[in-house]
Parts: sequence; structure tokens; C-alpha cells
Amino acid sequence: MHRLLKRQLKKLRLDADRPPDDKAWRQFLKMVDGAYRQADQDRYTLERSLSISSEEMQSLYQRLKTSTEARMHAVAEAFPDLLFFQDEDGRFLDVLAAHPEMLYVPREQIIGHTMEDIFSAEYSRQFRRLLQKTLETGKLQQLEYHMPDANGEDRLYEARVVPMGVQEDGKRALLTVVRDITVARREETWAGLVSKAVSAAREGIIILDQDKRVISANPAIENICRRALEEVLNKPVSVLSEPDAVLADAAFWREVDEKGSWHGEIQTGCSGGTQAYLWLSIDRVQLEAQGAPHYVMLLNDISELHASRKKLEKLATQDPLTGLPNRVLFQDRLEQALVRSARNKTTGALLFLDLDRFKIINDSLGHQVGDLLLQAVAERLSHHIREMDTLARMGGDEFTLILEDLRHPGDIVKVLEKLLQALRKVFKIGAHELRTTASIGVSIFPRDGQDADELIKHADTAMYSAKDSGGDQYRLFTEKLTLSAYSYFDTEQGLHNALERREFYLLYQPQYELATGSLIGVEALLRWHRPGKGMIGPDEFIPMAEMIGLIEPLGAWVREAVCQQIVAWRDAGTVPPRVAVNISSRELVNPGLNAQVANLLARYRVPAELLEFEITESAIIKRGDVACRNLLRLTEMGIELAIDDFGTGHSSLVNLKRFPLTSIKIDRSFIRDVLLDPNDEAIVRATIVLAKSFGMQTIAEGVENVQQLDFLRRAGCEVVQGFLCGKPMSPKGISDLMQAGTPFGTC
Ligand code: C2E
Ligand code: MG
Ligand code: MG
Repeated sequence: MHRLLKRQLKKLRLDADRPPDDKAWRQFLKMVDGAYRQADQDRYTLERSLSISSEEMQSLYQRLKTSTEARMHAVAEAFPDLLFFQDEDGRFLDVLAAHPEMLYVPREQIIGHTMEDIFSAEYSRQFRRLLQKTLETGKLQQLEYHMPDANGEDRLYEARVVPMGVQEDGKRALLTVVRDITVARREETWAGLVSKAVSAAREGIIILDQDKRVISANPAIENICRRALEEVLNKPVSVLSEPDAVLADAAFWREVDEKGSWHGEIQTGCSGGTQAYLWLSIDRVQLEAQGAPHYVMLLNDISELHASRKKLEKLATQDPLTGLPNRVLFQDRLEQALVRSARNKTTGALLFLDLDRFKIINDSLGHQVGDLLLQAVAERLSHHIREMDTLARMGGDEFTLILEDLRHPGDIVKVLEKLLQALRKVFKIGAHELRTTASIGVSIFPRDGQDADELIKHADTAMYSAKDSGGDQYRLFTEKLTLSAYSYFDTEQGLHNALERREFYLLYQPQYELATGSLIGVEALLRWHRPGKGMIGPDEFIPMAEMIGLIEPLGAWVREAVCQQIVAWRDAGTVPPRVAVNISSRELVNPGLNAQVANLLARYRVPAELLEFEITESAIIKRGDVACRNLLRLTEMGIELAIDDFGTGHSSLVNLKRFPLTSIKIDRSFIRDVLLDPNDEAIVRATIVLAKSFGMQTIAEGVENVQQLDFLRRAGCEVVQGFLCGKPMSPKGISDLMQAGTPFGTC
């Protein structure tokens, strides 16, 4: 041992001119200390055997002490730890701290004191035990303990005690390093919890480096992205969004960098080939101002939500019976079509289709059959349209169709013909063979309307026009049609009040006998004086009055007014020989008509022979038996019957033979062209001859000139009525004519 030390000393002295190698000297001194202890020698004997003076040994110790202290101070300043140097009795030899305020007690009150002097009994006990254990084992021991700081706040400390391997005043020295680990532990705990939470989260969490590479991902992403972690880790994040590739888009990442975050839905291709919808939130995270950014991505699988949303959307926009788009979706599609049409300067059409007679089928065969028929109609229509066209069901038996990008005006007509044709074919619904047709109204965009509502309204108007014309046809909307639809509405409103407001009055047109030129009768013609609108002719309101159920009270009013007029003429002594009154075909089926007329005649004491009722040929043919019975009773009463507008109803006189008719009025359309059109001439001649053979009188309507009059005279016509002989006039005008008594000159 001594030899080894001697050699070591020699070597160290040889290097004496170089800066002292503290490590080598420290090792030497450690060996010296070991030798003291082992051999239990005193210092003097050892120094002598090593041939080193006590002074040199002392200076060596001193030098090392100084250099060690300097190092210790440096360490203490660099680290946030407290360094306590103690001897084996627990007495503090020194204490080092980067800042004095780290010590609870001033430094001077620590050095030279024991732990018991400074700490409470409880702490002292713990520290002493730790010291003891370190001395016993000769190895590092550590302890964690809580202690309140100067502000009374609980802190957590870690004390690490090591034997220093040197003695101070013959006592072993120990170093205790005390570190405040409150924050570190808190962070450690927090980090542990966060890591646990991240691992257990159902949400996929991915962390990217600045190159958008996946540097960390939690297990949830395996489920969400349907990819194994290994397939994702250290890979570019774009692998997640394939084939949508949004995450590979540089512009997308520029947006994330600019805004700092991004939220939205992405679609990912899964390894199984199925598509997944993910809700993705990305946050750009920069821990240090100059550091590289990281990206934290949160992923939620919303595939199921997406599917149910799609389902709901479908339910909200689909007609459940036919599976076609419903009114809501149709409106939306129409608006889109209008935008496209405006942008591309193309023409489109909106078709409004309503089944004819559907209500009858539904009411007679039941709703189930009705529903099946609607489904079959929807399917049949679908077969005849292009994929880009939108066929929708608006409800009931109403369908709409949007046709876009019509190249030629003829295209629309072709489609319309095709659709009408398709619907005419028989529908086999269960045991039933059903026939239905459709009325289709069309508005063309952009020509017929600025917006969806206007186009729908116009197509609807056109559809009603098609329906009014008998159905199984189409009508295109025109400005004229809208106007007439409007005035139709307006007239209907006015008619409802006209009777009460006494806005109706009668004019009378004279009828002359050709043979004598004498006035043999007048025809009562109804007029409506609409305040603000002037005189309105019967052609404009009689059809509507018939339709809205107003013709019966109106007809009754006319007959009463005629009777009152006859009374007035009688009083003036100017009653014409016969007064013709027009009767609507609708009135003919009224079983109360006869009683009403009889009552009237009795009330005003008007002889039945004075009256002639004019009815149209189509009226009596259409109305059949009830009309026939009514007419018979009227003639039994003594009222004469004339067939009005003869020749327009395609019936032959033979057919009319069974009715008790007295006169035939040849429609003015034949008289107008009688000198120009040989057909008309032939019809007029034949009618006169046939009427004569049946014993009926012929009255020619609408005689406007002398040539027509001459022709009629030569052809054997008996009575004429027309502007040439006299326009419809006031009762006073008739009185004057009667009073003058002069025959109609030209006749
Ligand atoms: P209508 O019974 O054939 O009446 C004759 C129509 O011919 C009248 O038209 C008359 O003004 C017109 N007229 C007469 N002479 C000439 C002529 O020389 N040239 C031309 N262009 N026209 C002539 P108005 O008064 O407009 O009546 C039209 C139709 O309205 C009548 O045709 C009749 O069917 C119906 N009507 C008139 N008054 C009544 C009524 O009180 N009840 C019912 N149910 N229908 C009526
Ligand atoms: Mg008439
Ligand atoms: Mg007529």
C-alpha cells in the first residue's frame, strides 16, 4: 500500500510544473485517507513513510479544498438545488444555495448547528434517519418530504444524501442535495394523466411535426382511420385522407398556418375500401416563440352521424309514396335551375302535371288503389325523362317536372307528347285496368317568370287551362292566358254581388217577319253594368255564372224582369207579339223550373203564348230526359220553344224531332258567310227546307246587310233578326217601334 502511494506521489511531483491535476491529487489523498483508516496509523507515521512533510500534505489538502469549494459554488449557482454539507453527527458544515432566499433560515444560523437545532422534531427525525442510513450503507439515500415555504405554501422536496468520502475534523462528511420538485412533480403527474387520457380517449389524437409527419398518435386512430398505428406513425399525414387528399393540399396547410386552426369534415378512404367521414380539428401549436410549430389533430368518426343525416335529409326532401323529390326539394332544384339558366343563358321549362279524373278513381276504388296508381304514374313518367331532369310530386295527383337546357323550341313539345302518350296506356293495378290522362301546364324560363314562385304560378294557370279544355292535353303559358285568368277571377268576384246590387238589365232586339215586314217579336238579351267597367256582354259572364251556380237565380231574375216589362208595355199599349227569353242548359235540369214559370205567369198575368224560350241544341241533347220532360211541360203551358244557334251543335233536325220545338234560329256564323261560302249557303238552304217540312219557323240571326236579307228571302226564311233590322235596344225603343207600327222598310 505504501509502495503504491509512494509511486503515485512521485508521479504527481514529476508533473508539478504543470497545473495541478486535482483529480489525480484527490485520488491520492483519498488513498491516503484510506490508508489512515486501514492501518490505523497516525498521520505523522504515514507522512514519514511517504517522505512527505506535514506542511506539504496540509497545503495539498488546502488547495483541493479551495478548488472543490469553487466548483461547489459554481454548481450551486447553476442548479436550483440546495447543497448541505454535514458531518456524521448531523452538524452542518456548509450550505450552498443559488439564492440566499432559498434557505428558510439565514446561512449563519445553519452552519455549526445540527438538524435538531433548525428543524422541528418530526423533520429532524426523518432527516436523521436518512443520514444514519447513508452512513450505514455508504450509498446514496433519498427522501421526499413536504414542507411549507416562507409563504406557508406546501412544497414538495427531494433530498439526496451521499457520503462524500472525506473527513472533516476526523468525522465523515456527507452532502445533501435538496431540490424543490413541487412543479416538476405536478407536471409529471399532469403529463402522466394527460398521456393516460390521450391513450384512453375515443377521439383520435395525432401530433404532427412541422413537416406534417405523424410523430405521435393515440390508439383510437386505429379505429377511426381504420389503419394500424404503424401505418401512420412517422408517415406524412396525407396518408389519412386518401383519396380525398385534402391533407396533402399545400393550400389547406397554408390556411391552417394563417388562421392557427381549422375545423371541418373530411372523407377518408379506409383500408377496407369503405368511406369514413371524420370531423377534424387542427390546432397549430408553437411551444416556444422561435421553435418549430407542431400540429395537434383531433379526429372524430362521424360516419354514422353522416349516414343518419343523409337519411334525414332524404326524408325531409323525398315524397314517401313515390320516392320522388317532394315540394321542398323541387323548389330548391328549380331555384338552382334558374341560376344555371341565367348563368349559361339557356332555356328551360317547368311542367305542372295534374292527373285527370284521379279523384274518381281514388273515391271509387279506394286510397290504396289510388296510391298504387300514383306510384305507377311516377315510375312511368320517370322512364320518359332524362337523368338531369327533376320529376317531383307536389302532393295529391300533382307532379312537376323541370327540364333544363332545351336546345330547340320543338324539344318541349316532343317531351309533352311523349308524356301524354305514356300516361294514356292502361295501368294494371291489381285486378284493375285503369286509364288516366293528364293535363299539363308549361312555363318557360326565363321568358315566363323571374323567379320560382312566378313560374310555378304560371305553369299552374296553364295547367288549369289545359284541364278546362277537356284534359289530356298541354298548354303553354302565355301573357294572354294570365290576363284572362285574372279577369276570370275578377269577374267571379263581381258576379257574386251583381244581382243584389241590381247591376243587370235587359235589352230587346226586334225580330221581323220577312213576308210582311212587321215586327213579330223581340229577344230579351241580358246586360251587366259593372260600375267602373261599363257594359259587359253575356258571353263574358254567362258561362261563369253557370259554373259558379249563379245561373239559376240570374235566369229567374231575367224571366221576372221580362214579365215586369210585358206589364209595363201592356200598360203603354205596346206589347210586342212575342218575347223570346234565353234559357241556360243548366236551368233545364232544374225540376222546379216549370212551377217557377207558371207562378210567374200567374203573378203578372202574362199569357204563356207571349213567351218563347230559346235553348241551345247541345243543351237539350246533353241534358236528356229531365230536360225533355221540362220542355214538354213548358209547351203544355203554351210557351213556344226555339232552338238557338242552330248548326253549331252538330245535331241533325231528325234528332231534334222528338222535342216540341216551334222555331229554329240559324246561327249567325252561317248567315255571315252565306254569300261567300257555298257550304254555309247549302247549310242555310237545307235548314230552311227541313224546318219547313217539320212545320217549324226559321229565324235567321245576325242579318247585317241587304244582300244577306235578299238571299234569306229567296231561300224562304220566315223571320230575321240582326243589326240591319234593329240592334238590341231599350224597352222604350221597342215601345216606340210598336207605336210607330211601320213595317221594317228594307224587309
Ligand atoms: P243569342 O241568343 O244567339 O243572342 C243573339 C246574339 O247575337 C246577341 O248577342 C245579339 O246582340 C247578337 N246579334 C244580334 N244581331 C247581330 C248582328 O247583326 N250581328 C252580330 N254580330 N251580332 C248580332 P248578345 O246579346 O251578346 O248575347 C250573346 C248570347 O248570350 C246570346 O246569344 C245568348 O246565348 C246569351 N244570352 C243573352 N241573354 C241571356 C239570358 O238572359 N239568359 C241566358 N241564359 N243567356 C243569355
Ligand atoms: Mg238567343
Ligand atoms: Mg243565337
